[in-house]
Amino acid sequence: MSRYWSPVVAGLSPYVPGEQPKLANLVKLNTNENPFGPSPKVLDALRAACDERLRLYPDPGSDRLRKAIATHYGVSLPQVFVGNGSDEVLAIAFQALLNHDAPLRFPDITYSFYPVYCGLYGVRHQVVPLAEDFSIDVRDYLPAAGQPAGPILFPNPNAPTGRALPLADIERIVAGNPDAVVVVDEAYVDFGAESAVPLTNRYDNVLVVQTLSKSRSLAGLRVGFAIGSPALIEGLERVKNSFNSYPIDRLAEVGATAAIEDTEYFEFTRSAVIHTREALAASLRELGFDVIPSAANFVLASHPARDAAALAAALREKGIIVRHFSHPRIVRYLRISIGTTQECDALVHALRTILV
Ligand SMILES: *Cc1c(COP(=O)(O)O)cnc(C)c1O
Repeated sequence: MSRYWSPVVAGLSPYVPGEQPKLANLVKLNTNENPFGPSPKVLDALRAACDERLRLYPDPGSDRLRKAIATHYGVSLPQVFVGNGSDEVLAIAFQALLNHDAPLRFPDITYSFYPVYCGLYGVRHQVVPLAEDFSIDVRDYLPAAGQPAGPILFPNPNAPTGRALPLADIERIVAGNPDAVVVVDEAYVDFGAESAVPLTNRYDNVLVVQTLSKSRSLAGLRVGFAIGSPALIEGLERVKNSFNSYPIDRLAEVGATAAIEDTEYFEFTRSAVIHTREALAASLRELGFDVIPSAANFVLASHPARDAAALAAALREKGIIVRHFSHPRIVRYLRISIGTTQECDALVHALRTILV
């Protein structure tokens, strides 16, 4: 606490990311990083871009990257916005699209950055409890007659549950809220959910946010993007250009463009992660865990007889880090990122010795 702080600062509850320990040889299954490295083509492109051109500012419109995204997803250039990680894209969406009189609605169990942005930007909000099985009930997001409809935000698949909402259900939410923006955070969509990008060609109130951090193995490069109607994208651009007109640096643009263009490597790595996830879920169920069906690169699992925090601590002693959340509805669960086959085998082996 300092008297020099702006008044809003004292009231903030900043986001706490999963730890990034400095120790070597850890099996790190706590922050949903991709166990595969980035595409070799990305690394080549980055090396080729490391030269005296770094003295120049990057293209403020990131046109090469936006064109690659537009081509890959079958949308037009004015439908694409890029930012420095999808966290930044979301922050800009909070300011540009989600701050209205009617409260923003998002699930009670979801990405814990959302309430943090509400605090920072003064966004009125209302949490909507997930169903008992942690699914999103579409009816909870359809406006009641005569009530002003506020904006809506949810990840698909949701985090940290991993549960996916079918595209038809997302369309019901979008179509049922023509007076409000619906933002779908698709950080994990490539691991098994249906993308809402096709809806952006038919509805002007849906914004899809994606990241290169997870399915394209580039968490360290910090690139995310949004796809929506040109009017929504223009709203994001107006905020971006009032905040930082060069968010994507030269290297990030080059690396991200190469990543989007290398579909072969993308398909190979994401199917490997999906395959490992299904094998890990089966092994965990054999050990007695309840595993929520996941369409993401992590699973949420609880053991009926064991305290989750104690399990996480015991795993840590064996050099394996997983994530445990204190929210009462998921306090019995561990969120386990999908690592390599060897890392997941090490986890299962460690759990077997801990559970005897
Ligand atoms: C990881 C994650 C993000 C943020 O990703 P960036 O690394 O900032 O692009 C956004 N939303 C959800 C739900 C995530 O899990």
